[in-house]
Amino acid sequence: MTGAFAHVSAWVFDLDNTLYPAPALYDAIGERMTAYIARAVGVEPSVAFDLRERYFHLFGATVVGLSKHHGVDQRDFMAHVHDVDYSVLAPDPELAAMVAALPGRKFIHTNGGGGHAQRALAALGLDAVFDAVFDLEDADFSPKPQPLSYRRLIEAYSIDPSRALFVEDTLRNLEPAHELGFATALVGVVHPEPRPPYVHHWASDVKTLLRST
Ligand SMILES: [Mg+2]
Repeated sequence: MTGAFAHVSAWVFDLDNTLYPAPALYDAIGERMTAYIARAVGVEPSVAFDLRERYFHLFGATVVGLSKHHGVDQRDFMAHVHDVDYSVLAPDPELAAMVAALPGRKFIHTNGGGGHAQRALAALGLDAVFDAVFDLEDADFSPKPQPLSYRRLIEAYSIDPSRALFVEDTLRNLEPAHELGFATALVGVVHPEPRPPYVHHWASDVKTLLRST
């Protein structure tokens, strides 16, 4: 490995919209979230949708706000909303080969839970190329961008951030990674200008990023 990532021995990837785009899957999960919230909180679907968005922006994950303000059981919510059809995802052998070829350890750090990461990775044919999944339950329900989420990941796997890269499609999740000493990469078609100082690298998608290593 040469170039900008020569020092990297731990690769931390977000999952949704970073490793794969799947609007239909995300919509299916979102619809189950809205229906669950409407039922659990006792509000109309439109109000439930607004709560879902508000808690996502406030806490990094909707489920955290639902637990805090409405006493929702977080594990039950996560299991229920991710009970969807993962067969809409197609294997991505090209990405699997690229990740497998990276030197060092590879991790998934996702705000998902309820088995979502494991099922998505299996459907994408990526389950064998990662050393570990660290999801919202593993983070004890501290979602990104809460710094505690990153610290729990670092501690769980003895990661040295100065030798690690953090890859994300969500801009705000890169700032704590940068502050903790990770190299950071933003993937996605939207490239913020001016680029914030906590975004060290940018590529339109993860394969383009990895091809540049
Ligand atoms: Mg994402």
